[in-house]
Formats: sequence, structure tokens, C-alpha cells
Amino acid sequence: MTQSLAIIGGGPAGLMAAETASAAGIRVDLFDAMPTLGRKFLLAGRGGLNLSHAEPLDAFLSRYKPSRDLIADAIKAFPPPHIRAWAESLGVKTFVGSSQRIFPEEMKAAPLLRSWLRRLREQGVRIHARHRWIGFDQSPHHLLFSTPEGPLRVTAEAIILALGGASWPHLGSDGSWQTLMTDQGIGVHPLRSSNCGFKVDWDHQFIERFEGTPLKAVSGSTLWQDHVLHHRGEGVICQEGLEGGLIYALAGALREAIEGQGQAILTLDLLPDWSHEKIRMKLETPRGKLSHKNFLRRTLRLSDVKWGLLREVFKERLPLTPEALAKSLKALPIVVTDTMEIDRAISSAGGIHLDEFSKDLMLKRIPGLFCCGEMLDWDAPTGGYLLTGCLATGRTAGLGAAQWLKTPTVSA
Ligand SMILES: Cc1cc2nc3c(=O)[nH]c(=O)nc-3n(C[C@H](O)[C@H](O)[C@H](O)COP(=O)(O)OP(=O)(O)OC[C@H]3O[C@@H](n4cnc5c(N)ncnc54)[C@H](O)[C@@H]3O)c2cc1C
Repeated sequence: MTQSLAIIGGGPAGLMAAETASAAGIRVDLFDAMPTLGRKFLLAGRGGLNLSHAEPLDAFLSRYKPSRDLIADAIKAFPPPHIRAWAESLGVKTFVGSSQRIFPEEMKAAPLLRSWLRRLREQGVRIHARHRWIGFDQSPHHLLFSTPEGPLRVTAEAIILALGGASWPHLGSDGSWQTLMTDQGIGVHPLRSSNCGFKVDWDHQFIERFEGTPLKAVSGSTLWQDHVLHHRGEGVICQEGLEGGLIYALAGALREAIEGQGQAILTLDLLPDWSHEKIRMKLETPRGKLSHKNFLRRTLRLSDVKWGLLREVFKERLPLTPEALAKSLKALPIVVTDTMEIDRAISSAGGIHLDEFSKDLMLKRIPGLFCCGEMLDWDAPTGGYLLTGCLATGRTAGLGAAQWLKTPTVSA
């Protein structure tokens, strides 16, 4: 079977590549290991499907690490307003939330995915589900698949890999492509958890009492390179440690510190709306017969879980002078020992070195082979940056492959 363009991976990056290439008149065959496409995209829909973010473009681009023209150029060519227009063209209206995040009005992924797949079929894209790519057969233009009907060899003039990272592997992307690429001499940074929870060695009594409890209205900070990163948000206490938006936002810095020093310190401000001075003054009022816990609840509206955290960190050594207690409430050090397993992470850091690509996302060493989405070595926080990065790089790879098929040249 000879194909013009074979795309492997039917997540948002692969689907966008298929849409772009087929719209440019290319015959596209899209393969995916799973029985249905876009499973992680659907899961993202359970959290409301944060498609993108409405902050100014410069600030938006600064969220991507490493900061490289390759990713920035892809996003500049398909920035957040274009993503909104694209969703609308699929019949899905979007809105900008108070946090500037962009969501579909229905806060779901399924209607968008249904309409998107319909468009792809109308544009002639042939979808082959349950086709697991297992490697190249001698040359990178000969692809081997395992299918329910047995092994299949597909020859393609151009190929786009959109195989995702390694989080939530039962949804399809398991990162097994890493060895297939390194076998071809392609540089890959091993996939690691990103936007993930972090392990904390909680006392079992603390976890019995607070597992699953949200930690609301806090801010966290950690040292990253030569400056302090801050983020305000919510966390959740879990069996192994801490999860939630606040932690995900600081994940890159925490992970780097753990990789370098074996642990990281997450400093929590339990009362970010109160100054140290105001807290100290409140704490100087007479406590009367109230327990410390009730005194803090009454004077500072400190929740049980925040009190529990103070006790967990200081145990019997909780400082009780107004000055020292105010200091602890504003800067509670939590020792995080490791990232949680990649299986439960929102996304993966690592992937194919960006230096391997020309600007159209073709591998310089393998002309005609393009890659996009989370399998590239870029990372970004939650907030719509991940899907935007996948859609934008999918589009760049789709355009690049279409151009390559029309006039095969290797760009810089
Ligand atoms: C719980 C959760 C919530 C999220 N929420 C958001 C959010 O709100 N906003 C946001 O921006 N991002 C969110 N993300 C992240 C986002 O979903 C991913 O970054 C995005 O799906 C990655 O897209 P992709 O196309 O690169 O890879 P994937 O979506 O992982 O798709 C890869 C596809 O490749 C297929 N595949 C893999 N290996 C093979 C193979 N060998 N052969 C054939 N097919 C293969 C897989 O089956 C899969 O369909 C969330 C992620 C999770 C886990």
C-alpha cells in the first residue's frame, strides 16, 4: 500500500496536521493504536478543556521552555485568536474566563472532537484505528504496524509522527517511540512527569485526616535558577503528596531542583491576602481560653487543613510567638522529595531535541519525516498552553509535509 502522507497519532497534534495537509490537497492516511481517536483530548475535556489563553502574545510565548523560535514561530502562525476562530468554524463557541483562560462554552471536548473528525472525513482523510506503529522496516519511509488483522507494512512518501508524551499511557501515548527514534540516531531527552503532583512524606495521621482536601487560596514559591518563582492557586492533599494547579505551575522548577539536589522546597504562603504585619497584630490579641487552632480559626479564618499543615511541618515545635507564627504562616516550607509517576501527570517534559528539526518540523536527518505535539522537547504549564502548542506544531508539520510532497527540499 503506498500513501502520500501517513500521520501516526490521532491526538490534537496529529488531527491538526491531518486537517492542514488534507486542506492543502494531500491524500492523508491517519493511523492510531487505539480503537478511537483523541482519548487524552477527551479526558482534558473533563476538566473543561482549557484550549488556550488570552494573555498578550509575548507573555503567552514566555510560558514555553526551552524558549526557541521553532515553537514560538508555530504559535505565532496559529495564535490563541486563531484557535478560537478554528473552534468556532467547527461549531464550538469559546469564551475567555476570569483567569484569561479560553474554554469552549460547553466546557467539553466531545462536541469539538466529533465535528473535527467529521471535517477530516469530508476532506478525505482515511482513518485507521487499532493500527499500532511498531517501527521502521529498513528505511524510515517503510512503516510497520501491528493491527488486529496481523502485521502491516505501509510505504509513505512523507510521514508525520504525532505520538504524544507518556502520561496516562492507557489512553494511547506510552512513549514507546523513544527507542524507535534513538535507534535512528535521533536525539531524545527522556520523557519525565510534568504538570504533575509531587511526593511529600506525610505523616499517616495527617493523610488519614486530610487526603483529598483542597488547599484553597494559597500561594507557593520555589527557587528556580537565580530567582524565586511564585504562583497563586489551589492544591490538593493526596496520599503521596500534593497535586493541583498551584503545584503544576511550579512543577518545572521543583523537578529541576529534585534532579539536582535530591529534593526541593516548596514554600507556601497560607494567607496570601494578609501581610505579615497584619497577621502579627491579629496574633497579638489575647487568646483567652481558646485552643491555638480555634484562636487561629477565629482571628485569621485559618482552615483546618492549613492548621493541619502547620502542625505537620512543625510537629511539637510549632512556634507560638506572634512574630514567629506569622512568619511560618507566610512561608511554610514543604519538603518535596520526588515527582509523582508519569502515568498520572498532565503532560511530559522531554522529547525529541528541538535541534533535530528544520523550521517546518522535519527531522534534518530523515527528510520527509516530520513530528509534532507533545513528543517534541518543549514544556509549558497548564492554562491552555499545552493544547495550543500541540495544535500549532501539528499545523506547522501538516503544512511542512504538504510543501515537502509538492517540492521536496530541505529547509534550514
Ligand atoms: C487529565 C488531563 C487533562 C488535561 N487538560 C488539558 C487542558 O485543559 N488544556 C491543555 O492545554 N492541555 C491539557 N492536557 C494536556 C493535553 O491533553 C496534551 O498535551 C495533548 O493531548 C497532547 O497532544 P498530542 O497530540 O501531542 O498527543 P496525544 O493526545 O497523547 O495523542 C497521541 C496519539 O498517538 C497515539 N499513539 C501513540 N503511540 C502510538 C503508536 N505507536 N502507534 C499508533 N498510535 C500511537 C495515541 O493513541 C494517541 O491517540 C491534559 C492532559 C491530561 C492527562
